[in-house]
Amino acid sequence: MDFKKTYIGRVIYSLVSLTTGLKTTLIEFFTPKVTEQYPENRKTQHISERHRAMLYMSLDENGNNKCIACGLCANTCPNGTITIKTKMVTDEETGKSKKVLEEYTYDLGCCMFCQLCVNVCPKDAIAFNNKYENAVFDRSKLVIKLNK
Ligand code: SF4
Ligand code: SF4
Repeated sequence: MDFKKTYIGRVIYSLVSLTTGLKTTLIEFFTPKVTEQYPENRKTQHISERHRAMLYMSLDENGNNKCIACGLCANTCPNGTITIKTKMVTDEETGKSKKVLEEYTYDLGCCMFCQLCVNVCPKDAIAFNNKYENAVFDRSKLVIKLNK
């Protein structure tokens, strides 16, 4: 007689089948957990330096932004995320007039973090930081003036 068809055989076969089906569940049950407990783990959370969260203007050794108001970043941006206002000022030493930055506006809400603006800047005046907690209830708060 076929053992699998006996009562005992069927019980044993069912248990083997059940264990095989639950193998992955059992393995995962004893594997250490890797789930991030955000936001409780804010203090220990590692965010890569390379993560692109928000554009900012880097400063020179005198604390001034390095932007020369060339407009390349704004013209390169595919989303129209950057708006630049400029003004003409007269250089006191040379007496010549030159264009300077008046207002640098960045709309985080429509940025797709492609980094084209950063790559095209001839002065390394802009970069991305990794500060990712930027959620707001009002979209207008995502429009930020970057030059202080
Ligand atoms: S990262 Fe891309 S989308 Fe965002 S401001 Fe720069 S060029 Fe525009
Ligand atoms: S941030 Fe760079 S690319 Fe943009 S206007 Fe200033 S100097 Fe030009």
